[in-house]
Amino acid sequence: MKKKDIMETKVLVSNIQRFCLHDGPGIRTNVFFKGCNLHCPWCTNPENINFQQEKYFVSRVDDESKGIYGNWMSLQNIYDEVVKDRLFYKDGGVTFSGGEPLLFMSKIQPLLKVLQCEGINICVETALFVPEKELHLALKYVDTLIIDIKILDKEQCKIVHGGSLKDYLHNIQIVNDADVDVIYRIPLIKPYTTHNDNINRIICFLQNKKYSQIELIKGHNLAERKYQSLKREGYIVPDISEEELDAIQSKFKKKGIQAEICRI
Ligand code: SF4
Repeated sequence: MKKKDIMETKVLVSNIQRFCLHDGPGIRTNVFFKGCNLHCPWCTNPENINFQQEKYFVSRVDDESKGIYGNWMSLQNIYDEVVKDRLFYKDGGVTFSGGEPLLFMSKIQPLLKVLQCEGINICVETALFVPEKELHLALKYVDTLIIDIKILDKEQCKIVHGGSLKDYLHNIQIVNDADVDVIYRIPLIKPYTTHNDNINRIICFLQNKKYSQIELIKGHNLAERKYQSLKREGYIVPDISEEELDAIQSKFKKKGIQAEICRI
């Protein structure tokens, strides 16, 4: 395949958001790939779980619309969108999100190469339950990995979101040995991730890990409309009080871990 043809490879993208400030350093363009190998009940991007295009329909007093989640975009089209804001990036750049963007690394490798050559900072948000091969590929190009820590119990992982804890921990070891900036994100979703055993496991897990930041993400129900548009039942995330958030943050602090609470 010629270089030009390689950039015509197409991937399913559900959204591209410009001027994002919370998913990696600086000002960023977030590219959302459609497709994930997990099924977290609290997923805030349910339109990005399925690997195919999906019809949506919204019928409300204030909004009636229908359409399709997911556009087939060439790597060249994605590149063109990303470089529109390069003058604003400074420390910023592009963040690949999803879905599970690490599953798309082989497919988007030509794009990663070009972005790296042009000095554009690359960040990937991942749950890290992915084949090792895709992770190794990503590590050649990615500056920052934003990694979820969800549930650190083997059986619960399988039951709740369908991931293999063994694979996750194996990948974590690879990341820990690599020269890459890591931000860990902990979604606080009652009762799945917030119970004492899980929080204690996470604190213990972090003791020998390299990272630049830990974020405690307060769960929310902002994806309700997306679930309705897909005619799917979403999990109603129970509210977590400020006292509960403070108590969790204090547990980390007692073990010398600075964790920032993020309320989206
Ligand atoms: S890993 Fe992320 S995108 Fe996939 S189901 Fe879980 S929350 Fe949703």
